[in-house]
Amino acid sequence: MDDQVQISKTERVMAAPGMIEGRTRRTDRAEAAQGTAVIEEDRPFWPAVRRGFLRRCPHCGEGRLFDGYLKVNDSCPACGEVLKHHRADDGPAYLTILVVGHIMAFVMHFVWVQFRPEPLVFATLLTVFSVGLSLWLLPRFKGAIVGIQWSRRMHGFGGHRD
Ligand SMILES: [Zn+2]
Repeated sequence: MDDQVQISKTERVMAAPGMIEGRTRRTDRAEAAQGTAVIEEDRPFWPAVRRGFLRRCPHCGEGRLFDGYLKVNDSCPACGEVLKHHRADDGPAYLTILVVGHIMAFVMHFVWVQFRPEPLVFATLLTVFSVGLSLWLLPRFKGAIVGIQWSRRMHGFGGHRD
């Protein structure tokens, strides 16, 4: 058996000695030698991040990740993948502030130097743009973080207690 083996997410197979190569995770050679290694489905990192950013299930890319604006579905409505194990916490807010802050610092500088708008107009435009961009990015960053956690089997996504 080579490293191209594909195993469905629910199927766990006791590995025979020598099955450790390639896409197995959370196994080591000692386990493989004993025949106790668990072969788990590969979860590619970037597709999971991209699907999460698009607010889709990191597993199938079809089902909606969120029930509402930011509440993550307990499971994917399309494929049934359990999603409630995520622990995005304040990571999405941190990333949103980081990105919006850096973009707005540049925009502020550029617009002020180039156009010298009225301060009230300037402040209003910056506020509307900052809030709008933040609201747009926040669920996308949250989806991407859930995708990372799902892909790397963090927290409960690995089938173990957190
Ligand atoms: Zn799904």
